[in-house]
Amino acid sequence: KNIVVAIDGYSSCGKSTLAKALAKKLQFIYVDSGAMYRAVTLYFLRNETDLKNHDLIIDALEHIDLNFHSRDYQSHILLNGEEVSEEIRQMPVSENVSPISAIKEVRQQMVKEQQKMGKSKNIIMDGRDIGTTVFPDAHVKFFMTADPKIRAERRFNELSAKGENVSLEEIFENIAHRDFQDTTRQESPLVRADDAIILDNTNLTEEEQLNFALEKIMP
Ligand code: C5P
Repeated sequence: KNIVVAIDGYSSCGKSTLAKALAKKLQFIYVDSGAMYRAVTLYFLRNETDLKNHDLIIDALEHIDLNFHSRDYQSHILLNGEEVSEEIRQMPVSENVSPISAIKEVRQQMVKEQQKMGKSKNIIMDGRDIGTTVFPDAHVKFFMTADPKIRAERRFNELSAKGENVSLEEIFENIAHRDFQDTTRQESPLVRADDAIILDNTNLTEEEQLNFALEKIMP
């Protein structure tokens, strides 16, 4: 049977950094479920869809085709054939993704696609509902958390390095706001699965986190 590792947690906690390092070490496939919700959001932003019109959004879902291709253990996402991995990290998407991902039909479609990816291959998937909804029987589940100020600083450094003109306050607000929306939404809210291992990385290096997680996956 193939192995599935689920990593959930708050925004900008380093889930994808750990997931990529684990995928490389274990030769598993890394799937960034947040990228899917982001790509869907980008599609609607580009089409200038009224984001409050859920009927319109639900009807348009069938025109959205998402694909991943893995290169160097990075996860690249294609929206209707176009690589959008960079664009989905920008602020307009970050600011609109949580309400879009709160729509039940959007989640149903994403979850179905995610479950398909975990059917036969060894994968590591990160997100908000992986251990609770997508793969309740995952081999190992992690729930990541870190001091919100540290999280904002890390994301600020990342975006600044890419030349994005955004302030630390804006990022802090965005992270806090997404956490609030993600934990309070009706459809599979962000919550720790009972059997998820808590990983608070406020004071841990990337290497320490990797070793901690490896020990849990392959004791
Ligand atoms: O992981 P990332 O921060 O890129 O995810 C962006 C947003 O997508 C989250 O804030 C959340 O609203 C949504 N999301 C979700 N379920 C997932 C992954 C992401 O609702 N499994």
